[in-house]
Amino acid sequence: MQDCIFCKIVARKIPAHVVYEDLSTLAFLDIAPASEGHCLVIPKKHYAKLHEMSSKDAASLGSSLAKVAAAISKLSPNYNLLQNNGEAAGQVVNHVHFHITPRSQQDGIFFKTSRKQLSEAEMQGLTKKIKTLLKH
Ligand code: AMP
Ligand code: ZN
Repeated sequence: MQDCIFCKIVARKIPAHVVYEDLSTLAFLDIAPASEGHCLVIPKKHYAKLHEMSSKDAASLGSSLAKVAAAISKLSPNYNLLQNNGEAAGQVVNHVHFHITPRSQQDGIFFKTSRKQLSEAEMQGLTKKIKTLLKH
């Protein structure tokens, strides 16, 4: 996609510190890392959101994620994966990307949020709804 910064990185129109590449995926250092080794893993094909991906490209991305995570785990055994979809979810770059963020004790990177407690009926209702949606 013409105006997408990550497509430009894939096309080598702008520079990036590439750590891994194969036929359909690319991984590079985040330009503003939350910690040392913070990488982004992306599909080469432009998809804005995860659920728009073909299962083939999603499977390739999953495989590259595991590969890059294995390398990162040797730098830092503690790390998070994060993938934002949509503005309200914090997505800034509209090209699917997974963050792999090395973590250490008291690094000040805040991911924990408060949690709700749903009733058994609400949990059952949601289970039914999502199972039905998975069939379509
Ligand atoms: P998100 O908020 O999940 O959309 O994250 C976008 C990420 O892309 C941020 O962590 C940015 O620091 C990173 N980013 C933006 N532009 C570049 C770039 N040119 N090279 C590497 N990382 C970038
Ligand atoms: Zn793109």
